[in-house]
Amino acid sequence: MGVPSVFLRTFGCNFTCDSFGMPRGTKSIERVQVALTHEETPYKDYKELPLVSTGCDSYASWDPAFKELSPLLTTDAIVDRIMEILPHGEWRDEHLVITGGEPLLGWQRQYPDLLDHPKMAGLKEITFETNGTQTLTPKFKEYLRKWECYHDGNFHREITFSVSAKLPCSGEAWEDAIKPKVVYEYETYGTTYLKFVIATEQDFADAQHAIAAYRSAGFEGHVYLMPVGGVESVYSINNKNVAMLAMKHGLRYSDRLQVPLFKNEWGT
Ligand code: SF4
Repeated sequence: MGVPSVFLRTFGCNFTCDSFGMPRGTKSIERVQVALTHEETPYKDYKELPLVSTGCDSYASWDPAFKELSPLLTTDAIVDRIMEILPHGEWRDEHLVITGGEPLLGWQRQYPDLLDHPKMAGLKEITFETNGTQTLTPKFKEYLRKWECYHDGNFHREITFSVSAKLPCSGEAWEDAIKPKVVYEYETYGTTYLKFVIATEQDFADAQHAIAAYRSAGFEGHVYLMPVGGVESVYSINNKNVAMLAMKHGLRYSDRLQVPLFKNEWGT
Protein backbone atom coordinates (compact mmCIF):
# COMPACT_ATOMS: atom_id res chain seq x y z
CA MET A 1 0.00 0.00 0.00
CA GLY A 2 1.19 3.47 -0.83
CA VAL A 3 3.73 2.26 -3.40
CA PRO A 4 3.25 4.01 -6.77
CA SER A 5 1.94 1.19 -8.91
CA VAL A 6 0.62 0.50 -12.36
CA PHE A 7 -2.17 -2.06 -12.32
CA LEU A 8 -2.53 -4.33 -15.33
CA ARG A 9 -5.87 -6.12 -15.16
CA THR A 10 -6.27 -9.27 -17.24
CA PHE A 11 -9.69 -10.61 -18.22
CA GLY A 12 -11.13 -13.91 -16.93
CA CYS A 13 -11.40 -15.81 -13.66
CA ASN A 14 -11.91 -19.45 -12.68
CA PHE A 15 -14.28 -18.33 -9.87
CA THR A 16 -17.35 -16.12 -9.50
CA CYS A 17 -17.28 -15.45 -5.71
CA ASP A 18 -21.01 -14.66 -5.64
CA SER A 19 -21.39 -15.01 -1.87
CA PHE A 20 -19.21 -12.18 -0.54
CA GLY A 21 -21.25 -10.05 1.86
CA MET A 22 -24.21 -12.47 1.77
CA PRO A 23 -25.63 -14.70 4.50
CA ARG A 24 -23.82 -18.04 4.44
CA GLY A 25 -25.07 -20.36 1.72
CA THR A 26 -26.69 -17.61 -0.35
CA LYS A 27 -25.55 -15.84 -3.48
CA SER A 28 -25.69 -12.24 -4.56
CA ILE A 29 -27.81 -11.41 -7.60
CA GLU A 30 -26.41 -7.86 -8.00
CA ARG A 31 -24.07 -8.79 -10.87
CA VAL A 32 -26.80 -10.76 -12.67
CA GLN A 33 -29.09 -7.75 -12.44
CA VAL A 34 -26.39 -5.48 -13.89
CA ALA A 35 -25.92 -7.98 -16.74
CA LEU A 36 -29.65 -7.89 -17.50
CA THR A 37 -29.65 -4.10 -17.55
CA HIS A 38 -26.58 -4.19 -19.80
CA GLU A 39 -28.38 -6.50 -22.22
CA GLU A 40 -31.29 -4.05 -22.54
CA THR A 41 -29.35 -0.77 -22.51
CA PRO A 42 -25.63 -1.48 -22.96
CA TYR A 43 -23.14 0.42 -20.84
CA LYS A 44 -20.54 2.04 -23.09
CA ASP A 45 -17.57 1.90 -20.71
CA TYR A 46 -16.78 -0.43 -17.80
CA LYS A 47 -16.38 2.65 -15.61
CA GLU A 48 -20.15 3.25 -16.00
CA LEU A 49 -20.98 -0.14 -14.45
CA PRO A 50 -22.49 0.08 -10.96
CA LEU A 51 -20.29 -0.78 -7.98
CA VAL A 52 -21.69 -3.75 -6.08
CA SER A 53 -21.77 -4.24 -2.33
CA THR A 54 -22.12 -8.05 -2.50
CA GLY A 55 -20.32 -10.64 -4.61
CA CYS A 56 -17.04 -10.03 -6.48
CA ASP A 57 -16.40 -6.28 -6.75
CA SER A 58 -14.32 -6.66 -9.92
CA TYR A 59 -16.91 -8.61 -11.91
CA ALA A 60 -16.30 -6.52 -15.05
CA SER A 61 -12.90 -8.20 -15.32
CA TRP A 62 -14.21 -11.73 -15.74
CA ASP A 63 -17.96 -11.93 -16.45
CA PRO A 64 -18.39 -12.68 -20.19
CA ALA A 65 -21.49 -10.41 -20.17
CA PHE A 66 -19.13 -7.41 -19.92
CA LYS A 67 -16.23 -8.70 -22.01
CA GLU A 68 -16.72 -6.23 -24.85
CA LEU A 69 -16.03 -3.41 -22.37
CA SER A 70 -12.45 -4.67 -21.90
CA PRO A 71 -10.08 -3.57 -24.64
CA LEU A 72 -8.13 -6.25 -26.51
CA LEU A 73 -4.67 -4.73 -26.83
CA THR A 74 -1.40 -5.74 -28.47
CA THR A 75 1.73 -5.89 -26.32
CA ASP A 76 2.98 -2.65 -27.92
CA ALA A 77 -0.29 -0.89 -27.13
CA ILE A 78 -0.19 -2.07 -23.49
CA VAL A 79 3.39 -0.87 -23.10
CA ASP A 80 2.58 2.50 -24.70
CA ARG A 81 -0.35 2.94 -22.28
CA ILE A 82 1.90 2.06 -19.33
CA MET A 83 4.48 4.63 -20.47
CA GLU A 84 1.73 7.28 -20.59
CA ILE A 85 0.73 6.47 -17.02
CA LEU A 86 4.26 6.46 -15.56
CA PRO A 87 5.05 9.93 -14.14
CA HIS A 88 8.46 10.10 -15.86
CA GLY A 89 7.53 8.14 -18.99
CA GLU A 90 9.83 5.30 -17.89
CA TRP A 91 10.08 2.84 -15.00
CA ARG A 92 11.76 4.27 -11.90
CA ASP A 93 10.41 3.40 -8.45
CA GLU A 94 7.03 2.17 -9.67
CA HIS A 95 5.72 -1.28 -9.18
CA LEU A 96 3.76 -3.36 -11.73
CA VAL A 97 0.77 -5.15 -10.21
CA ILE A 98 -0.73 -7.80 -12.48
CA THR A 99 -4.24 -8.56 -11.35
CA GLY A 100 -7.55 -9.83 -12.70
CA GLY A 101 -9.84 -11.70 -12.68
CA GLU A 102 -7.21 -14.36 -12.17
CA PRO A 103 -3.92 -13.29 -13.76
CA LEU A 104 -2.27 -16.73 -13.65
CA LEU A 105 -4.70 -18.40 -16.06
CA GLY A 106 -3.54 -18.75 -19.69
CA TRP A 107 -2.03 -15.26 -19.46
CA GLN A 108 1.18 -16.86 -18.16
CA ARG A 109 2.01 -17.45 -21.84
CA GLN A 110 1.82 -13.72 -22.63
CA TYR A 111 3.85 -12.16 -19.83
CA PRO A 112 7.33 -12.93 -21.26
CA ASP A 113 6.44 -10.99 -24.41
CA LEU A 114 5.29 -8.03 -22.31
CA LEU A 115 8.12 -8.07 -19.78
CA ASP A 116 10.83 -8.49 -22.42
CA HIS A 117 9.63 -5.40 -24.29
CA PRO A 118 12.57 -2.94 -24.42
CA LYS A 119 10.54 -0.19 -22.67
CA MET A 120 9.90 -2.55 -19.73
CA ALA A 121 13.61 -3.06 -19.02
CA GLY A 122 13.66 -0.63 -16.07
CA LEU A 123 10.89 -2.44 -14.17
CA LYS A 124 12.19 -3.88 -10.90
CA GLU A 125 9.15 -5.18 -9.03
CA ILE A 126 6.13 -7.18 -10.10
CA THR A 127 3.27 -8.44 -7.96
CA PHE A 128 0.81 -11.06 -9.16
CA GLU A 129 -2.51 -10.66 -7.33
CA THR A 130 -3.83 -14.20 -7.55
CA ASN A 131 -6.45 -16.42 -5.93
CA GLY A 132 -3.73 -19.05 -5.43
CA THR A 133 -5.27 -21.88 -7.43
CA GLN A 134 -3.20 -21.85 -10.61
CA THR A 135 0.03 -23.79 -10.94
CA LEU A 136 2.89 -22.07 -12.73
CA THR A 137 3.75 -23.65 -16.08
CA PRO A 138 7.30 -25.04 -16.48
CA LYS A 139 8.02 -22.40 -19.16
CA PHE A 140 6.80 -19.54 -17.00
CA LYS A 141 8.79 -20.76 -13.99
CA GLU A 142 11.92 -20.79 -16.10
CA TYR A 143 11.12 -17.30 -17.35
CA LEU A 144 10.53 -15.91 -13.83
CA ARG A 145 13.91 -17.21 -12.73
CA LYS A 146 15.61 -15.40 -15.60
CA TRP A 147 13.59 -12.20 -15.15
CA GLU A 148 14.43 -11.89 -11.47
CA CYS A 149 18.19 -12.19 -11.93
CA TYR A 150 18.47 -10.34 -15.22
CA HIS A 151 20.66 -7.34 -16.05
CA ASP A 152 24.38 -7.59 -16.29
CA GLY A 153 24.42 -9.75 -13.20
CA ASN A 154 24.25 -6.75 -10.84
CA PHE A 155 20.61 -5.79 -10.77
CA HIS A 156 18.22 -7.82 -8.70
CA ARG A 157 14.52 -7.67 -9.34
CA GLU A 158 11.64 -8.72 -7.12
CA ILE A 159 8.59 -10.88 -7.71
CA THR A 160 5.71 -11.09 -5.24
CA PHE A 161 2.69 -13.39 -5.20
CA SER A 162 -0.12 -11.74 -3.25
CA VAL A 163 -2.47 -14.66 -2.69
CA SER A 164 -6.06 -13.86 -1.81
CA ALA A 165 -7.23 -17.38 -1.04
CA LYS A 166 -11.01 -17.73 -1.13
CA LEU A 167 -12.72 -18.94 2.05
CA PRO A 168 -16.26 -20.43 2.08
CA CYS A 169 -17.71 -16.88 2.52
CA SER A 170 -16.81 -16.35 -1.17
CA GLY A 171 -19.20 -19.14 -2.18
CA GLU A 172 -16.38 -21.20 -3.73
CA ALA A 173 -15.86 -24.83 -2.64
CA TRP A 174 -12.97 -25.43 -0.21
CA GLU A 175 -11.32 -28.11 -2.36
CA ASP A 176 -11.31 -25.78 -5.39
CA ALA A 177 -10.11 -22.70 -3.53
CA ILE A 178 -7.57 -23.84 -0.94
CA LYS A 179 -4.56 -25.24 -2.77
CA PRO A 180 -1.67 -25.38 -0.28
CA LYS A 181 0.82 -27.11 -2.61
CA VAL A 182 0.22 -24.56 -5.37
CA VAL A 183 0.90 -21.63 -3.03
CA TYR A 184 3.89 -23.35 -1.47
CA GLU A 185 5.44 -23.60 -4.92
CA TYR A 186 5.01 -19.84 -5.54
CA GLU A 187 7.45 -19.27 -2.67
CA THR A 188 10.21 -20.75 -4.81
CA TYR A 189 9.69 -18.01 -7.39
CA GLY A 190 8.97 -14.94 -5.30
CA THR A 191 7.95 -13.49 -1.96
CA THR A 192 4.53 -14.95 -1.23
CA TYR A 193 1.93 -13.93 1.31
CA LEU A 194 -1.64 -14.97 2.01
CA LYS A 195 -4.54 -12.60 2.48
CA PHE A 196 -7.94 -13.64 3.82
CA VAL A 197 -11.08 -11.54 3.50
CA ILE A 198 -12.91 -11.61 6.83
CA ALA A 199 -16.45 -10.55 7.77
CA THR A 200 -17.38 -12.79 10.68
CA GLU A 201 -15.95 -15.01 13.43
CA GLN A 202 -16.83 -18.00 11.25
CA ASP A 203 -14.69 -16.58 8.43
CA PHE A 204 -11.81 -16.26 10.86
CA ALA A 205 -12.27 -19.87 11.99
CA ASP A 206 -12.17 -20.90 8.31
CA ALA A 207 -9.02 -18.79 7.82
CA GLN A 208 -7.31 -20.55 10.75
CA HIS A 209 -8.22 -23.92 9.27
CA ALA A 210 -6.81 -22.82 5.89
CA ILE A 211 -3.63 -21.39 7.45
CA ALA A 212 -3.00 -24.75 9.13
CA ALA A 213 -3.36 -26.49 5.76
CA TYR A 214 -0.93 -24.07 4.05
CA ARG A 215 1.59 -24.42 6.87
CA SER A 216 1.41 -28.23 6.69
CA ALA A 217 2.31 -27.99 3.01
CA GLY A 218 5.44 -26.03 3.98
CA PHE A 219 4.24 -22.47 3.31
CA GLU A 220 6.28 -20.03 5.41
CA GLY A 221 5.10 -16.60 4.24
CA HIS A 222 3.19 -13.91 6.12
CA VAL A 223 -0.58 -14.02 6.59
CA TYR A 224 -2.82 -10.95 6.37
CA LEU A 225 -6.43 -10.48 7.39
CA MET A 226 -8.41 -7.97 5.32
CA PRO A 227 -11.88 -6.64 6.12
CA VAL A 228 -14.67 -7.45 3.70
CA GLY A 229 -16.18 -4.39 2.05
CA GLY A 230 -15.82 -2.97 -1.44
CA VAL A 231 -17.98 -0.03 -0.36
CA GLU A 232 -17.35 2.23 2.62
CA SER A 233 -20.63 1.51 4.45
CA VAL A 234 -19.71 -2.18 4.74
CA TYR A 235 -15.96 -1.68 5.10
CA SER A 236 -16.10 0.88 7.92
CA ILE A 237 -18.15 -1.34 10.25
CA ASN A 238 -15.79 -4.25 9.72
CA ASN A 239 -12.23 -2.90 9.55
CA LYS A 240 -11.60 -2.26 13.25
CA ASN A 241 -12.92 -5.68 14.28
CA VAL A 242 -10.66 -7.39 11.77
CA ALA A 243 -7.65 -5.33 12.87
CA MET A 244 -8.32 -6.34 16.50
CA LEU A 245 -8.60 -9.99 15.47
CA ALA A 246 -5.28 -9.80 13.60
CA MET A 247 -3.56 -8.22 16.62
CA LYS A 248 -5.02 -10.77 18.99
CA HIS A 249 -3.71 -13.69 16.92
CA GLY A 250 -0.36 -12.26 15.85
CA LEU A 251 -1.34 -11.98 12.20
CA ARG A 252 -0.88 -9.03 9.84
CA TYR A 253 -3.69 -6.64 8.93
CA SER A 254 -4.28 -5.29 5.46
CA ASP A 255 -6.39 -2.19 5.00
CA ARG A 256 -8.25 -1.38 1.77
CA LEU A 257 -6.73 1.97 0.97
CA GLN A 258 -8.77 2.31 -2.22
CA VAL A 259 -12.08 2.35 -0.33
CA PRO A 260 -11.61 5.53 1.79
CA LEU A 261 -9.44 7.19 -0.89
CA PHE A 262 -11.36 6.40 -4.06
CA LYS A 263 -14.61 4.79 -2.85
CA ASN A 264 -13.43 1.64 -4.66
CA GLU A 265 -14.44 3.16 -8.01
CA TRP A 266 -13.47 1.31 -11.19
CA GLY A 267 -9.79 1.49 -11.96
CA THR A 268 -8.76 1.79 -8.29
S1 SF4 B 1 -11.21 -14.86 -7.45
FE1 SF4 B 1 -11.11 -12.62 -7.25
S2 SF4 B 1 -11.57 -11.82 -9.31
FE2 SF4 B 1 -12.16 -14.00 -9.30
S3 SF4 B 1 -14.35 -13.91 -8.83
FE3 SF4 B 1 -13.25 -14.20 -6.88
S4 SF4 B 1 -12.94 -12.11 -6.03
FE4 SF4 B 1 -13.50 -11.92 -8.21
